[in-house]
Amino acid sequence: MIRYSFFTKVTLVIVGLLSVTLITISLAAMYAIDSNLKARVQRELDTGARVFLQSLATRTSVLQDKVEVLAKDFAFRRAMATGDQATVESALANHGQRAGAGAVMWLDQDGRLRASTHHDASGSPPFPFPVLLDAAANQSATGVINLSEGLFQVVLVSIRVPHHIGWILMGFPINDELAQEQKNLTQMDISWLYSNKRDNLEILSSTLSAGDRAMLSNRTLPQLQEAHVEGILNLEQRYVTRLQELDGAGAEGARALLQISLDEAYAAYRELQWQLALIALLALLVSGVSALFLARSVSRPLEKLRAASARIASGNYSVEVEINSGDELQLLANTFNSMQRDLSDREERIVYQSQHDLLTGLPNRTVMLDRVETAIARARRENKAAALIAFNIRRFKEINDTMGQNAGDQVLRISAERLRSSLRATDTVLRLGSDDFLVVLEAGDAESLRIVGSNLIAKLSQRMEIDELQIRVNYMGGAAFFPEHGDNVEDLLRRTDIALNMAREHHESLHVYNNGEDEQHLRRVQIIADLPDAINKAVMFMVYQPKVSMVDRRASHVEALVRWIHPEFGFIPPDEFVTLAEQSGNVKILTHFVIRTVICQLRAWQDAGLHANIAVNLSALDLLDHSLPDVVQAYLNTYKVHPECLTFEITESALMQDPELAIRVLNMLKKNSIRLSIDDFGTGYSSLSQLKRLPVDELKIDKSFILHIEPNTDDAAIVRSTIELGHNLGLKVIAEGVENEEAWELLDSFGCDFVQGYLISKPMKPDDFTSWWKEHSAQH
Ligand code: C2E
Ligand code: CA
Ligand code: CA
Repeated sequence: MIRYSFFTKVTLVIVGLLSVTLITISLAAMYAIDSNLKARVQRELDTGARVFLQSLATRTSVLQDKVEVLAKDFAFRRAMATGDQATVESALANHGQRAGAGAVMWLDQDGRLRASTHHDASGSPPFPFPVLLDAAANQSATGVINLSEGLFQVVLVSIRVPHHIGWILMGFPINDELAQEQKNLTQMDISWLYSNKRDNLEILSSTLSAGDRAMLSNRTLPQLQEAHVEGILNLEQRYVTRLQELDGAGAEGARALLQISLDEAYAAYRELQWQLALIALLALLVSGVSALFLARSVSRPLEKLRAASARIASGNYSVEVEINSGDELQLLANTFNSMQRDLSDREERIVYQSQHDLLTGLPNRTVMLDRVETAIARARRENKAAALIAFNIRRFKEINDTMGQNAGDQVLRISAERLRSSLRATDTVLRLGSDDFLVVLEAGDAESLRIVGSNLIAKLSQRMEIDELQIRVNYMGGAAFFPEHGDNVEDLLRRTDIALNMAREHHESLHVYNNGEDEQHLRRVQIIADLPDAINKAVMFMVYQPKVSMVDRRASHVEALVRWIHPEFGFIPPDEFVTLAEQSGNVKILTHFVIRTVICQLRAWQDAGLHANIAVNLSALDLLDHSLPDVVQAYLNTYKVHPECLTFEITESALMQDPELAIRVLNMLKKNSIRLSIDDFGTGYSSLSQLKRLPVDELKIDKSFILHIEPNTDDAAIVRSTIELGHNLGLKVIAEGVENEEAWELLDSFGCDFVQGYLISKPMKPDDFTSWWKEHSAQH
């Protein structure tokens, strides 16, 4: 992802910049030196050329003088005039030798060679340098000519006596020796060249090295002329060059090449260049190192910060970034560290808040599984028991409603504190919901864990002071043990919950789960799930049990009882599924089903001439539904049944929940001319004053008082006084659960109005009831 690190970039930029600067400076210096040097060498060359030409001229005049001496020699002139060949030749030889000439020639007046010191004159062709001859026609001429032996600087003098009788030519060789001499004088390399018509070059003498000389000989004249114009000639060395034309007649084709080696001139500067390069290198090195250092001093801390960010991202806040550079980076690191601490604090706080209940400070549901698992694992390891105990406050809603939310909170806080302070360090108490606490007791033996549970209840149940009031709060607890009641978290939690429900239903303070209760629980869950369908699809049906008058033994009243044969569980007692319907919110559809079925049955029986009043049991919740009277009336209307044919049996407990509303509903039913009966009388707690306000027609004494009734027992006393009480309130009294004649007799003696029970008949299906009715009517 990172192509070039910051470190690399800084280093590269600094070193790059410096390199560019150094290279630019070096190039500029080199260029300056170079052009300076060239100019200087060029000047030297110019000066040298002047000196060269000067020396050439000087040599010419010296030569001229020497030839003049010979030309003025009388004997010689006479010998020439007389054509004395021998004398002339000997004079030429002598003078030539004395003058140091390499070539001496005698030409006759027509320019034909008469004698020569250096080659054979017999045959005497005309002298091949006509220009020179013309120039010397009057007196004398000088020039450079190429003889077969090489170049010669020559002086040609016309001999007159006084008329012209011929010429004397004296030539001095231009050879390496001369070139060397001239080099010594001018400090230049000098090469004498000759080019013929085809521009081919012939190097006749030179001070150059053999290699350079060889290279030079490969060049053509135009190339040299070009080099002359440009000033530079590249041979083995580089030379500043001048192609020097020569004055004087007969010099055509001969030239001098003047050169100064640029490389040699440079040699003096080479050291300077080396020094420069060294300085540049050093500067580069130093800057490189400082760039590295600088880049490192930034990139190291950056890398530390990056690593720290990565650590934070992975949730590790423990390592602080240490940068002691004393600059902004250190400031940044400090800020970073404090940010890290803040983050860590905040995360801790968030984690704490997410795992704890704010009101009580107890761990909450999020850690429940974890704690239970830990406890189970430990118990398993140590081969011991562990326990889960769920606590609930009984009627916590009432505390909240009557004493206020604040008091409720205080109760919860105190409860939490009591639980926490009674536990060992390894145990945990959690608050799972409003008044739901769960205690997780780690490894111990089952018996001692049971004792801990009861102690906890005892401790909780102590009085507490709330808003300057001493109150006692009731708790219930449900416990399940590992491994006795389950060996995994899920089972244990579910069974703890079941135990708590048992405690609630059976009003126990601590219920320890019993094996099998889970199955009951499952059965209940199943029943609840199947209820709606059983009602809606009319799987349920009604049976009818007669109530007979003690006065004439006539069965003018009937109680309707619901039945459900479950495909899996078979017969389910109605108390059981009615309670479950109440708990699961299905009671309304059940009641409507029952009422509709019963009214429908009334219609059928009335049509068949069977006239009876049918009693329907209402559930406690039905009395909290103020639409009930209208629903009932609607069915009565639909089936055209008179309301007086219907009785509703209401239990006392139904009146307890919301007496005002219940009484309102009862009044409405009563107003519609429906009979009302108080069912299960004696098992509830209704007060007499309340009883007085109820618009009821009948008291129904519960079968628990009747089933085993015998004369002179408590039951008999209760039943007798209840009958009296009912009569005094102007109510009819009926007893249910009459199974034998003795009970009948006793009730009869107490003045009971109606009886119901197996003695008369068990509940029957409609058809059976019809037959029973007919038989019964015939008897009475
Ligand atoms: P309950 O209203 O007290 O009904 C009387 C119960 O006593 C009936 O039981 C009846 O079969 C039984 N019984 C009558 N005579 C005798 C007897 O001589 N000996 C004995 N041992 N028992 C006798 P059942 O039908 O099982 O009903 C139980 C309870 O279920 C009822 O008590 C009532 O509270 C409820 N229930 C039944 N049907 C309905 C209904 O349609 N709606 C509502 N809401 N509850 C109903
Ligand atoms: Ca009843
Ligand atoms: Ca009863």
